[in-house]
Formats: sequence, structure tokens, C-alpha cells
Amino acid sequence: MWHRHNLKPAYDVVIIGAGVHGLAIAYYLGKRGITRVAVLDKGYLGGGASGRNTAIIRSNYRTPQGVAFYDESVKLYERLALELDYNVMFSQQGHLTVAHTDRGVTTLRERAETNRLLGVDSRLVSVEEIAELVPGLDVSTKPHQPILAGLYHPPGGIIRHDAVVWGYARGVDRQGIEIHPFTEVTGIRIDSARRVEEVITSRGTIATRTVVNATAGWCSTIAHMAGIELPIVTYPLQALVTERLKPFLHHVIVSATLHVYINQTDRGEVVIGEEIDPYPSYHMGSTLRFMENAAAHTLELFPCLAQVKVLRQWAGLCDMPPDFAPIIGTVDEVEGFIFDVGWGTYGFKAGPAAGYRVAELIATGKTPAVIEPFALSRFANLQPLGEKAAAAVSH
Ligand SMILES: Cc1cc2nc3c(=O)[nH]c(=O)nc-3n(C[C@H](O)[C@H](O)[C@H](O)COP(=O)(O)OP(=O)(O)OC[C@H]3O[C@@H](n4cnc5c(N)ncnc54)[C@H](O)[C@@H]3O)c2cc1C
Repeated sequence: MWHRHNLKPAYDVVIIGAGVHGLAIAYYLGKRGITRVAVLDKGYLGGGASGRNTAIIRSNYRTPQGVAFYDESVKLYERLALELDYNVMFSQQGHLTVAHTDRGVTTLRERAETNRLLGVDSRLVSVEEIAELVPGLDVSTKPHQPILAGLYHPPGGIIRHDAVVWGYARGVDRQGIEIHPFTEVTGIRIDSARRVEEVITSRGTIATRTVVNATAGWCSTIAHMAGIELPIVTYPLQALVTERLKPFLHHVIVSATLHVYINQTDRGEVVIGEEIDPYPSYHMGSTLRFMENAAAHTLELFPCLAQVKVLRQWAGLCDMPPDFAPIIGTVDEVEGFIFDVGWGTYGFKAGPAAGYRVAELIATGKTPAVIEPFALSRFANLQPLGEKAAAAVSH
């Protein structure tokens, strides 16, 4: 799929992180003819959150900035198998967020209206329509928090995360761009004019004028090496899958009130996720607390799953910004240091658009309009984006 290389003493661009973001940036740089590029990762390809996520793709966000950006990414995902000549198994089965309170219904209505104004297929649906869409879901008044309405987003769905990572990696390799797994970045040297000068790694030092930080859960540690503090805190996020069942669930189901989301894979396993762990940490262990909460909340929605066995459970790291929106672009403090971080619990779906736009930024030197709202400077300028209502659990 991709070749091993000796590390060269210099590259035009060094990308730190070989997850979906780092590899997508490299791929779209290659398409622009920029190929003296190295993608470095301290571990194996996709060993970060890109290989641990639940792969929900959607664009029904809350802010106009978020909706426009994620819509671009969904459209790139729709063409990705063809683009990479690799089956990424994108299943646009529809995404349904249910509300159990009047306030929850109002938030979904706001989102539906913003989505539709921007051309995204998304609408409020009644309990009757939900019952038809998802026969296994308990829409009765028996649960302690009955369902009142839902936000239905037909283009949303799930994808095969490994295939996306491997497809981009194969594309990058064919362009002549080098991928260096097991190459840890331990320092970044900045010259007296505050420009990026060198990247120090476990396999040697590289001279470069452009470095991209695409390290998600570890992004604050890399920023720190360049003397930049990020308003980001890293939290673990867990998920689990059950044993295989006959197909019974044909949509992604989310409940923000119950802090749970559920879908069924092509193999029949039920994938269940929740919100982030309640404490910041770099530990990727699984906890009983998560499994108990996930099971209890799932059974509120799907009592039919009561006897189903859990097959496996895992965790990944999430780089949480205060407004649940990413940090993308250049910074004033250090010339040549570019961020593609702040992807929290929701960044896998953003890989193609972020990759495409960061590559454009590097190639042209200009920040594309669609990523302008995500500049780090928004925090200093008191202009956070407020995406929490659409990103906290809905991933
Ligand atoms: C359980 C779970 C479920 C999720 N579900 C969804 C979902 O359904 N939909 C969605 O859109 N998003 C989801 N996410 C979030 C999503 O997975 C991430 O936002 C996304 O994968 C981030 O991709 P990335 O390429 O930026 O980072 P990563 O894939 O984390 O890659 C970063 C890489 O940087 C490397 N690195 C770190 N430090 C160094 C260093 N010093 N030197 C070299 N390399 C380094 C790491 O080894 C890692 O491979 C979920 C996350 C988790 C954990």
C-alpha cells in the first residue's frame, strides 16, 4: 500500500500526524504538485482517533460556518471512493437525532432551519414518522424520557474509517509523498525571525519552512514545542460494539439528552458511543462506568437489545476546544506553523474538507473563506462559534 523511506534532511512541508487529517492534507498537496512532503507519525498509520472512531459522517451542524464546512466534506466523501479508486464503504443511511424535552425540540428546529437555508437536507420529524423510520425504537410514553420529535438528515451515515485512512495513504504514496510511521516529533526549532526552521524527530532533524500540526488529541503538546498555547483540553472518548445481529437498524440514532448514539454495521454489530469521559486524560483505557452508562441509555431507546452481549470496547483521545469547533489555519506567533486541530469528538467527517482547504492555504498562501471562521484568533477576539449543541454527543 505504501513504501518505507529513509528520512531526508529537508522537505518543503512536514505534516505531523498520519491520521485522516494529515494524510488528506498530504494527498491534496500532491494533487497541487507539491510532493516534497513528509507525513510523520510516532506510531502506525491511523493509530490515533482516525482508527478508533465510530465513523459518523453528517453536515447537520448548528452554526452557518459549521454547516457550510461539513457540507463540503460530505460532498468530498461522496466522491472519495472514485477519487482514491478504493472502496471506503460510505453508507448514507440517514442520521436521526431524537429530542426528549421541549428545549431539545427547539434546538433541533433551529438546526433544521439553518441546515435548509444552506441547502442541507435536514428536517424536523414527528414521533409517528420516527416510528416508521426506526421500528425497533421505543417511541411509547413508557420511558422516563419519552421521545417528542427528531431531526432527520438523510445524507448522513457511516463509513469504513480504516479504508479512508488506507485509501488516502495509498494515494499519497503514489504521488511520491513520503509517509514515515514510528517517527516521533520531539521538538520544533524556530529562528530569530519567528519562522519555523527545523523539526526534531526520533530519527533525525529535518529542515523545513512549513509544519502542519495534525495531531488531534496530542495537538497541545506539539503546539507547546513551537511556544504556542492552545485553548484545548484532551479527553478520552469510548465506544463499544455488540455481537452480530440480523439487520434491524438502518439509520444512525442519536440522543443528546441520554448521551448516547447507536448504529448497526454491515457486519451486524451494534456500535454504541457516548459523550467524552468526565475527566481530562491521555489514557486510552476502557472503563466499566462507560459500559454501564452506555448500556442503560441504549436500553431506554432500544429495550429489544436487553439480552445482547458486548463484544469489545475501546477508547481514543479527543482535543476539545471550548466552542466545539476546530482550529484551522496559520498563527501570528510563528510563521510557517499551521494548525488543523480541535477536532474533538467530531473530526473524522471533516478530514477531506480540512485536507483540501489546508492544502489550498499552503499552496496559495491565502486562507480559504470556508475555513476563515476557524482561526485560533477567534478566542482572543471573543468570537467563539457555539457548536456544542450539534457536536457534543452527535459526533
Ligand atoms: C471513540 C471515538 C469516536 C468518534 N466518533 C466520531 C464520529 O463518529 N465521527 C467523527 O466525525 N469523528 C469521530 N471521532 C473523532 C475523530 O476520530 C477525530 O476527530 C479524528 O479522527 C481526528 O483525526 P486526525 O487525523 O486529526 O487525528 P488522529 O487520527 O488522532 O491522528 C493524530 C496522529 O498524530 C500522531 N502523533 C501524536 N503526537 C505525535 C508526535 N509527537 N510525533 C508524531 N506523531 C504524533 C498520533 O500517533 C496519531 O496517529 C471519534 C473519536 C473517538 C475517539
